[in-house]
Amino acid sequence: MGKTYDAIVIGSGVLGASVAAQLAEGGYRVLILERGDAAGGASGGNLGQISITDRCEPWHMDLALRSLDYYRSVLCPEFHTEYEETGGSVAIEGADQLDGARIALKQMRDFGIQADLYYGEDIHKVEPNLAPEAMDALLYCPIEGKLNPFLTTLAFLEKAKRAGAEFLPHTPVLSFQKQGKRITGVQTPNAVYSAEWVMNCTGPRAAFVGEMAGVPIPIRFHKGTAFVSHPVPHLINGPVVGAGFFPKPFAVRPRRSIGFGAVQTADGSIVIAQSTEECESDDRSVNMPSLQLVARRFLHFYPQLQDLQIVRAWAAVTTYTEDNLPVFGCSAEAKNFFTVAGFKGAFTVAPAVGMLAKEALEGHLAEEYRCFSPDRNMDREPAAWAMV
Ligand SMILES: Cc1cc2nc3c(=O)[nH]c(=O)nc-3n(C[C@H](O)[C@H](O)[C@H](O)COP(=O)(O)OP(=O)(O)OC[C@H]3O[C@@H](n4cnc5c(N)ncnc54)[C@H](O)[C@@H]3O)c2cc1C
Repeated sequence: MGKTYDAIVIGSGVLGASVAAQLAEGGYRVLILERGDAAGGASGGNLGQISITDRCEPWHMDLALRSLDYYRSVLCPEFHTEYEETGGSVAIEGADQLDGARIALKQMRDFGIQADLYYGEDIHKVEPNLAPEAMDALLYCPIEGKLNPFLTTLAFLEKAKRAGAEFLPHTPVLSFQKQGKRITGVQTPNAVYSAEWVMNCTGPRAAFVGEMAGVPIPIRFHKGTAFVSHPVPHLINGPVVGAGFFPKPFAVRPRRSIGFGAVQTADGSIVIAQSTEECESDDRSVNMPSLQLVARRFLHFYPQLQDLQIVRAWAAVTTYTEDNLPVFGCSAEAKNFFTVAGFKGAFTVAPAVGMLAKEALEGHLAEEYRCFSPDRNMDREPAAWAMV
């Protein structure tokens, strides 16, 4: 029998690491169990974009602004995360996306966030190397930015450890012991641990881990494929992404969708994304047709970069839900088993989600977040982000 804790956090991606940091700093005795290496899931393999425009519901704006404040004033002054408030852009193509962008613009301004639409040659005021003819407009938000997702996840983890949390990498959770509606033991290969709270922060594995606890979790997953160039001189100011998420989420989810995202990292490499595809649970294979389509889409926006040398491609499995809302909370099936998963673009909101988790364990979860419950009715219309 292993030790007893106040909280066991399963998973050391950005959400698990942030939850662990908040709980440990709040005085909880925390154990973090990770089946692989720290940040070995999607949190170690993404663009590191901080995107306020990702979605515009009030809850997202609130979590994004709280998180931005935390990055600026707490995490990034203390740790090397390569965080930069560069501004971020969304390339708008077609009338539907333009309508969506105008709604987003209004929504952001209602929240006091400055944002603007640029047209034609004015686009070069923001991103001098983007091809203006490739788009109808560019939606630009100056408080967006970028960070190194791997370093940032490790920073949250280090914060948790400094506050007393114990971290066990290469320690998968294999099963749970349950009495009535409570988890009483967390089984790993070497020991059974127990805790007042068990936090399921296992990203794309959240439904599998939930099943072991007898809790249905409405998390689905797909894989994103991306690639990175060798370092080049400064070309791209901030993250630039396509507006595939405007104005509504997928009505029917395609087997493969080709998006556009580009970020130039601190060392000058350009990370280019992404193909999003259906996959088996741990499938991280990359395939050439997807990469070719992503490259073609990238060159549509940056035609002068056709000789860019690509040094590595990878895929990472990440989450989605049918109703486009995250999963956050306990189920009636296990009252101390708390799932935190499915926050799209989790880096934008991870700090505030950690704070919210602590508030929830202390019984202060605000009413507006109760619709994220794993027990919610999934037969509703998907949440469109544009809620005006
Ligand atoms: C190509 C690509 C680009 C992206 N770009 C961005 C971006 O620019 N900005 C952004 O914010 N987001 C981006 N994302 C999404 C982002 O990566 C995810 O939202 C985020 O990483 C999710 O974090 P997480 O902690 O929920 O999951 P993960 O990072 O997947 O962490 C889950 C952890 O749980 C562990 N685990 C699973 N099962 C067990 C078990 N049984 N026992 C113990 N541990 C277990 C896993 O090993 C893993 O470490 C991108 C994703 C992809 C694929």
